[in-house]
Amino acid sequence: MENAGQSPRRIKRELKRLLQNDHSYAGGSIMGSMCTSPHPLARKIFSRYIYKNVGDPGLFPATTELEGRAVAMLGRLLSNETASGFILTGGSEANIVALWTAKLMHKNKGNEVLVPESAHFSFDKAASLLELKLTKVPLQNDFTVDVGELEKRITARTIAIVGIAGTTPLGVVDPIAELSRIAVEHGLYLHVDAALGGFILPFLPALGRSAPEFDFRLPGVSSITIDPHKMGMSVIPGGGILYRSAELAATVHVVVPYLAGGETAQATVVGTRSGASVLAAWAMLRHLGRRGYTKVVKRCMENTAFLAQGIREIDGLFLPCDPVLNVVGVASRKLPVHELAARLRTGGWALSLFPEHIRVVCMPHVRRAHIRRFLADCRAVLHE
Ligand code: PLP
Repeated sequence: MENAGQSPRRIKRELKRLLQNDHSYAGGSIMGSMCTSPHPLARKIFSRYIYKNVGDPGLFPATTELEGRAVAMLGRLLSNETASGFILTGGSEANIVALWTAKLMHKNKGNEVLVPESAHFSFDKAASLLELKLTKVPLQNDFTVDVGELEKRITARTIAIVGIAGTTPLGVVDPIAELSRIAVEHGLYLHVDAALGGFILPFLPALGRSAPEFDFRLPGVSSITIDPHKMGMSVIPGGGILYRSAELAATVHVVVPYLAGGETAQATVVGTRSGASVLAAWAMLRHLGRRGYTKVVKRCMENTAFLAQGIREIDGLFLPCDPVLNVVGVASRKLPVHELAARLRTGGWALSLFPEHIRVVCMPHVRRAHIRRFLADCRAVLHE
């Protein structure tokens, strides 16, 4: 830090220059992210209420009340009028608090948790933080978890199982209905990670598409991750954890005696928590409604189909599986996938690379023109 501070004008100019190397959503190069350019209303609300802290509900009771209302709207979306939960920093925190809850619920039983091999790395973090023994269950040919293999791995010390509704690598949906049956039969906690799919699957039927079951209609589902900062069109940070009941949501109960509202209990990882992102998520749910989100999903799914067809038509490329959500895997018979990724990245594309494929996510900021350009570059790289 220098002795003399700089003027706001200078700081802004400096930042503009220093941030030049960041990708921008509008520029069209961000093809591998599950985040997107937040809706203009979400940005406005977020910056207007930037100072609100729902970690201290005694100071911000009205904001805390609106968090409850946002959670209630998410609960209705996930078929549960009495769901309870929180708007968090993201899917990672939601997955961590879900397993924290599972651990506390079953503290006398054991510490083993079964997750699909496709599970997001936040489950590794949760296991490390909570001292859980994580077992990764192999996938079937369609990249969903092999339920038979999962059932074989249940022991007397297993406390929880996890299903993914929109996996990180390929956006497929695990057979959550079967996982629910297993959870009920074995008395296990079932957490569904719908960080991505939670804001897509509920809108597919209105588009004439079938959507696998994944929500609280399934009796074994204890909690669901659903992220406003992914397909919810809200700002970062914006994650969501929904529990089947208020009782379950209060399992994690860390008492803070000194806050403005008197003794308060927290059930989140972070203490000071952005009320602005709570309000932005609330605003998005109120503003877009089912019809607005259906429109967003429709465009993303149409772009996904367009991209998938384009990839199928390029000699040397193939899809590991047909897209279920807005995620397209791109694999190659001609080039090692890391080489394909390296060449496309050199060309300016920001892509996600997995061991066998590149991942493109057709988020709302991805436009037809970007996809056409991407397909042209794929063709060029393959036929160089
Ligand atoms: N769950 C899934 C399925 C994800 O794909 C991701 C991130 O992409 C997460 C959880 C973690 O979300 P975040 O990055 O918001 O912590």
